[in-house]
Amino acid sequence: SSRASAVLSALDIPTTPVELDGVYDGTWKGSGDFIESICPATGEILARVKTASPQELHHAIDRTREAYLAIRTMPAPRRGEIIRQIREALFAKREQLGALVSLEMGKIRTEGVGEVQEFVDICDYAVGLSRMMNGRVVASERPGHSILEVPNPLGVVAVLSAFNFPVAVYGWNLSVSLAAGNATLWKPSPTTPLCSIAVTKIISSVLEKNGLPGAVAGLVTGGKDVGEAVVQSKDVDMVSFTGSEHVGRIVGKAVQARFGKALLELGGNNAAIIMPDADLPLAVPAVFFGAVGTAGQRCTSTRRLYLHSSIAPDFISRLQKLYASVAPGDPLDSATLLGPVHTAAALRIHEEAIEDAKASGGEVLTGGTPFAASDLSSHLRGGFFARPTIVRPGTSSVQHPAWSTERFAPVLRVAEFSDLSEAIAWNNGVPQGLSSSLWTRDMRNVGKWIGAEGSDAGIVNVNVGTSGAEIGAAFGGNKSTGWGRESGGDAWKQYCRWSACTINFSDAAPLAQGVSFPA
Ligand code: NAD
Repeated sequence: SSRASAVLSALDIPTTPVELDGVYDGTWKGSGDFIESICPATGEILARVKTASPQELHHAIDRTREAYLAIRTMPAPRRGEIIRQIREALFAKREQLGALVSLEMGKIRTEGVGEVQEFVDICDYAVGLSRMMNGRVVASERPGHSILEVPNPLGVVAVLSAFNFPVAVYGWNLSVSLAAGNATLWKPSPTTPLCSIAVTKIISSVLEKNGLPGAVAGLVTGGKDVGEAVVQSKDVDMVSFTGSEHVGRIVGKAVQARFGKALLELGGNNAAIIMPDADLPLAVPAVFFGAVGTAGQRCTSTRRLYLHSSIAPDFISRLQKLYASVAPGDPLDSATLLGPVHTAAALRIHEEAIEDAKASGGEVLTGGTPFAASDLSSHLRGGFFARPTIVRPGTSSVQHPAWSTERFAPVLRVAEFSDLSEAIAWNNGVPQGLSSSLWTRDMRNVGKWIGAEGSDAGIVNVNVGTSGAEIGAAFGGNKSTGWGRESGGDAWKQYCRWSACTINFSDAAPLAQGVSFPA
């Protein structure tokens, strides 16, 4: 369609119908199976992409290792300068790339552009990091000895990413990993190949300009088979995986079996807790954005809402008004707040989430039915639009699937509580531990929430919704979310090979702990 070709041609991607190379290791190629990029808003095929054959994949891993050998001795601030240039190149295409995210993933335009901005931000962060990845000097118990903790580059880092952040998750990994001196091989989601091709083209042009091997930031598109082969390769030092708990469990075990390093960023089942003293004009829109934004397809989307019984009826009726105001539209249209879910399969997941609640004896408070054709403008009728829904499960048992599962769709589950301890127990009672949010003005609640008796999630917010994190803090979750940390904070330390180096500059060679072993 002309709608799609306008977005694609702005990024020099040949317009449909076309077959594109989906592998880059210094040169573009692809002779494996085809995958199709489908526009979630219209259902049209945007392009067919040639994935990596097994041989091309092994070749790409070899090229990535060679690229690592080339880059590991480059001073870190010089690598930072490359990252700065990548930042500039991405920023120059921010709007165009953001539109491609909307076209191919389905999120609305401001979120598509925001995702590219996140990549820009983490590049800025990594440029600074390139002068700050410091080891330390440790006090030795032996005279004339120094102990250093030294970070060195790790090697080949494979990034396996999910469909819902087809640009930013790679950005978090690439920028920090490159600052640390590694070469990266990206295996993106098979449903967002165009985003990965466009990003890789932008980055490879910077690498080329600097005379660096393209395989410093290589790409292998493909499905499960390509993912499995990357994960099992002994030549991949670290696998940074973002995706579902189901696949993360398989990936984590496979990497562990060969004693590789794994960084897992898995599913969330995030709760917002609203106390009686909460500022409702702030809390209601935050829950609305958390549950309906990105059509409920953020790992940090609000999936559970725990309302204090004294404000519950008021809160629900305010929320219902906002739900009634949101209409599905073209994500490329800047007025749209609700785009499609990503695939036809996601529509089924949406139905399952509603069925879970009904099976528990629950009720639908808002939504619950599919959109009618007449709700959608004519060019969107082949798209995958799910009506945002609020349910009240018939049980508050966090073990029931109506509460315990992540259903990646815009379905919000609601229950009422009477005191904060009960709500925290529910918050913590599910397998996942990604994001959480408490709304209160009472300092006593805040102290409890962020302390030892509080939320067990990796992200613990107060008067801030569950979704939409900044890059400065380490991002990630606990328990079945995988314990991974990416982006800011100390996350960079995982991308390094650390050594404890004891140096003796004395004329004796004493043993540690005063051990005597005369020879
Ligand atoms: P998914 O698990 O289906 O796929 C993720 C990646 O794994 C894809 O690249 C896929 O091709 C690959 N893959 C599939 N099977 C594989 C196998 N056996 N071995 C190796 N790789 C394999 O996830 P998805 O549906 O694309 O994304 C949605 C999920 O991602 C949600 O659960 C969401 O919460 C999660 N997510 C988490 C975070 C986070 O930071 N915690 C961020 C974004 C998304």
